[in-house]
Amino acid sequence: MGTKTHYDVIIIGGGVVGTAILRALSRLQLQTALLEKAAEIGWGTTKANSGIVHAGFHSEPGSWKTKLSVAGNRMFEQLCDELDVPFWRNGLMMVARTEEEEEILRRYYQQGLENGVEGMELLDAEATHHLEPNLAPEICLALRAPSGAVVAPFELAMAQAENAVANGAEVYTGLAVTDIAHTENGFVVTTDNGDSWTTTYLVNSAGLFADDLARICGLDAAPIIPRKGEEYLFDQRVSDLVTHTIFPVPTPKSKGILVIPTAEGNLMIGPTALELPYKDDLATTAEGFDEIFAFTQGLVPSLNRRDIIASFAGIRAGSSTGDFIFETSHEGRAVHLMGIESPGLTAAPAIAKHVCHMLAEAGLPLNEKPNFNPRRPPVIRFKELSDEEKARVIQENPLYAHVVCRCETITEGEIVDAIHRGARTVDGVKFRTRAGMGRCQGGFCTPHVVRILARELGVTPLEVTKRGDGSHLLVAEAKGFLKGGELHD
Ligand SMILES: Cc1cc2nc3c(=O)[nH]c(=O)nc-3n(C[C@H](O)[C@H](O)[C@H](O)COP(=O)(O)OP(=O)(O)OC[C@H]3O[C@@H](n4cnc5c(N)ncnc54)[C@H](O)[C@@H]3O)c2cc1C
Repeated sequence: MGTKTHYDVIIIGGGVVGTAILRALSRLQLQTALLEKAAEIGWGTTKANSGIVHAGFHSEPGSWKTKLSVAGNRMFEQLCDELDVPFWRNGLMMVARTEEEEEILRRYYQQGLENGVEGMELLDAEATHHLEPNLAPEICLALRAPSGAVVAPFELAMAQAENAVANGAEVYTGLAVTDIAHTENGFVVTTDNGDSWTTTYLVNSAGLFADDLARICGLDAAPIIPRKGEEYLFDQRVSDLVTHTIFPVPTPKSKGILVIPTAEGNLMIGPTALELPYKDDLATTAEGFDEIFAFTQGLVPSLNRRDIIASFAGIRAGSSTGDFIFETSHEGRAVHLMGIESPGLTAAPAIAKHVCHMLAEAGLPLNEKPNFNPRRPPVIRFKELSDEEKARVIQENPLYAHVVCRCETITEGEIVDAIHRGARTVDGVKFRTRAGMGRCQGGFCTPHVVRILARELGVTPLEVTKRGDGSHLLVAEAKGFLKGGELHD
């Protein structure tokens, strides 16, 4: 058991929201730390969502969801430019197929105007099919919002954390907060390794588990409602079927099932919306797939199930009020973020600003750091380089000449860079570089990634995990695969 430095602010939870807050605080002259229970940053809801930067016409005027998603949307260009994160303002379309749906769609258009969404237009059938020729012929009206965009959510969380650390913040992974006690000077936070962390201010950004931590702080927090969403990813060779993110008119529970061009270039369909009695069921199901596929084929008839290469599920931290919830305890010195369901990714940069204001109201001094650097060193994405750039990069570092993931053309140089930026597991490498995300889903490259991780981290391949404790990939020196702790191809 050890006692750490006294921090000005401790953030619990390293999702896209917690890391956005950490980065915002790293601009200031403060001692800050973030505690995350998973082996790496961004492995909660942030890892498994649709990656859409919403335009802001879905939620009610005046709600936190509207205010913070419209403001957040406007911050994304600069954010992703500074952090070198894949971002694409592809625009989004809500489409109607019947007169009844047309009426609903027009109401969302009015709501969007009220919410201050810029550039929206209503398109008739001809204009819609001119822009998106692969949409179903019966689509008769579309609401187009050019401010809609897509982003790589996991990379964004990683990049925010990396940039915050470069500016003096501290990030600790693999540590779950188990207790919070109030003291004269603030709080003592206990983690599952027995360590105590003292802080003057506290931000509870623990996603699905924020209600439990709020209760530890004495709040009578309403239970978060876990709502699962399954998503299915297509091979990159069918990426061009649509350009806009295609929405149906919403259901009472969700924005409906969508066709989504991702920032990484794959088309995706989903999500479902299923309320769960528990917070850890990430299974995809045959029923979920059937529901999603049948529905999205009604939007884009040429979708083919044989092109699907991967599936995953994420769980929304459903709100008891239908809106984001910001509660405080201890005279405002602890801020609790609950119900940060969709559009929480879109709103994350604006949520961070809002939380800074809340902390300032409780007395946190907001003095700017004169030497804050908003830029993260750019990531070399080998596949995207011109032939001349590839030759130059290889000359500077021959590891870029070794392609490890053949499906996605990811080189050893990119994998080593990801490890030097913080990847500690096979999934950490996968989500930072896309090694293992292609058609063969890591069948070819995983042993190579294990070998590179072991070499760079100075451990044996037996110690390398897929996603932290309990997910070791190798158990023994079987079949001559491992000799003397080394992995042989
Ligand atoms: C299927 C699906 C699709 C979605 N699509 C979109 C979309 O297209 N656009 C959009 O804007 N939003 C979307 N969302 C919502 C969006 O993903 C979330 O709002 C956002 O990721 C929430 O981020 P977060 O940081 O609050 O939560 P999380 O990412 O869950 O982060 C919370 C973190 O806290 C950690 N933690 C929990 N308890 C503890 C503890 N005791 N100690 C330490 N750490 C702890 C967790 O491990 C986790 O990493 C979608 C959600 C789902 C499920």
